Amino acid sequence: MSNNTVTVAGVEISTDHFIGGKRVASANRFANISPVDGSHLGDLSAGGKIEANAAVEAARKAFPAWAALGPKGRLPILKKFAEGILARANELAAVETMDNGSLLTGNVHRVIPRAAHNIDFFAEWALTLEGHTIDSPEVVNHVKYDPSGVAILITPWNAPFMLTTWKVGPALAAGNTIVIKPPEWAPLTCSLMADIAKAAGVPDGVLNVVQGIGEDAGDALVNHPDVDRISFTGSTDTAKIIGQAAARSITPMSSELGGKSPFIICADADLDAAAQTVAAQYMNAGQVCLAGTRIMVEKKIEEQFLEKVRGASSHMIVGDPRDKDTRVGPLIHKEHFDRVAGFVERAKADGAVPVWGGGRSNFGDLYFEPTLFADVNPTLEISQREVFGPVLTWQSFSSDDEVVTLANNTKYGLAGTLFSRNEKRAMDIASQVAAGTLWVNCFFVRDLAAPFGGSRDSGIGREGGSWSFDFYSDIKNISVRKGSFA
Ligand code: ADP
Repeated sequence: MSNNTVTVAGVEISTDHFIGGKRVASANRFANISPVDGSHLGDLSAGGKIEANAAVEAARKAFPAWAALGPKGRLPILKKFAEGILARANELAAVETMDNGSLLTGNVHRVIPRAAHNIDFFAEWALTLEGHTIDSPEVVNHVKYDPSGVAILITPWNAPFMLTTWKVGPALAAGNTIVIKPPEWAPLTCSLMADIAKAAGVPDGVLNVVQGIGEDAGDALVNHPDVDRISFTGSTDTAKIIGQAAARSITPMSSELGGKSPFIICADADLDAAAQTVAAQYMNAGQVCLAGTRIMVEKKIEEQFLEKVRGASSHMIVGDPRDKDTRVGPLIHKEHFDRVAGFVERAKADGAVPVWGGGRSNFGDLYFEPTLFADVNPTLEISQREVFGPVLTWQSFSSDDEVVTLANNTKYGLAGTLFSRNEKRAMDIASQVAAGTLWVNCFFVRDLAAPFGGSRDSGIGREGGSWSFDFYSDIKNISVRKGSFA
């Protein structure tokens, strides 16, 4: 049992794995650097095959007892887990901000409370799945949601705590045991999650954390022969690699991947609300998979709307994410900054012209200016590939058919946003855009009961409400002949 820790934002955090209820150290370590100010937050245990094997073994051992508790038995433990998250919300928010550069006020008020809700919502929802029957002429079909076994949960750095709980909640509520592989660029809040789970009474081995580099720790987990589910959120390229491992063992995999989502503004829209929402796409420095990064404006309002967006974007202050006035914090890492800057430079070389922004902000090394490219040819790389930075493109359209074609002109299909006051028109366009979620006159609203996921290169499967349990359960039908019992 190790007790290596670092203190970040005044919070003491273990730097080691969490396996079978114990902290386990590795000789290999990886450095964790804050994007906020470049400070070295600590060196963390970097796992590989040995740690992956130990964690899967611990999860397998803990599985029968956790599964046997049933949704009712798991509910009080998971509710305590959610309460534990809320009780430490300020600490979690502050650590997350230092670890990945996300806005502190957003973390305190929205992200961490939402993460807690991911746990108690699915614990409650599991109760609703019990006792479901389908009546047939000869038989009664008793539909049972059995736990599937050991689930591997792999998450990205842009919202690590939130996105991990979005998997942890339903996976545990369904009766699985889990091994989490947190992102190597922002692993700290997942380490705290393990402590909170333990304090809430989640039994040893039910929730395990193996830290490390994706190609080592992540690869060892997804290739482990004794896992039952793989849930992944990250890039499309990594999903293709993990998908090959899943295919070899026929392990069900769900994947939530990138996007290049259209944001359509019709001339009849509430243009002030639409402009505010366009500017909001710069939040978290655009490191949001759901961001509507391809702005499509009806031609007759183009100039007027550009001025409104210019006004709204002037409030997108670049700065320290701990400052309450900041709207755009840093990019996560030098490697990622170079990637974003590379997209922008190639776009300029391709002839795209930035209307504003277009380079590093004066605020600091990893800070990028909110950027808008106008009149962008839809075939350019900047119109086609996910940048994952504060970079928007702007196109105009003259007809609804044209905007639907433009909107669907990438390989992605994660989300879309549309502003119009005409219900019929809005619903017609929305139903033709390829996307898992289409927001009309709103953005980022996500009811946990509603389906969520991406089409095409944006992912496989849907989660939320019962869809989460379809993935994390082995669904069984016990089909009983009527009148056949003594
Ligand atoms: P991003 O571009 O958002 O960093 P990645 O797909 O690279 O997305 O990473 C998302 C998660 O996937 C991270 O936790 C990372 O460590 C993990 N990962 C990366 N490569 C692999 C791999 N080959 N096998 C398993 N997990 C991986």
